[in-house]
Amino acid sequence: MLPTRIFLDLDDVLNKFTMPALAHVGCDIDPTSFNDFDPTWGFDILKAANALCPNWEPFTLASFWRAFGRKEWANFPVSDEFQWLLNSCKALVGRENIYILTTPILDPDCAAGKMEWIYKYCPKWLHRQYLIGPCKHMCARPNALLIDDSDENVNKFREHGGQALLVPRPWNSLHEVNTMKYLEGYFRTCNPLYQLSIEPPFIKGRNVVASGLGGAFG
Ligand SMILES: [Mg+2]
Repeated sequence: MLPTRIFLDLDDVLNKFTMPALAHVGCDIDPTSFNDFDPTWGFDILKAANALCPNWEPFTLASFWRAFGRKEWANFPVSDEFQWLLNSCKALVGRENIYILTTPILDPDCAAGKMEWIYKYCPKWLHRQYLIGPCKHMCARPNALLIDDSDENVNKFREHGGQALLVPRPWNSLHEVNTMKYLEGYFRTCNPLYQLSIEPPFIKGRNVVASGLGGAFG
């Protein structure tokens, strides 16, 4: 069944979160690439931070997240796939059927910052199409597709009857997969006209989002 509704994860799908966050707490890494992330750390940013800063007093969950206030949550940069993903989703289900679905940490400033992020970076038509909450699987239904970088979220969504597309990242089970090729393959399978509509931005070694896609689907 083709999805008729799409839920888009925010952190590390629409934005760049993990690498800039690790740099923010002081890890000596390049926040603009995934090169410094060891896949053996898995989906565990605390483990990554402590591995990257072995000579420091270890971060605890509390000390790590204390470094992030509303301003930080509101200002993570958009992901390389952001614009392409929105256009691809629009082509598949129409913009009225796209929602952002994002889990906050246990801090109201995180939720506030995420709202700010949506208003700041997303097109206006998405400004009232989001849900902030930890129970993503509550949105699962046969025609709903979750696009997320967490194996756990994806598996749970599927277990509750939804469809899910895991975005390959170094911390998930698709860490050896080329992100754009994988995503592009999905949308091509769903939409035979896809190739005519959108050129994927950086499969052939180009690592920037192609400009001029914004108006492709209105
Ligand atoms: Mg995420």
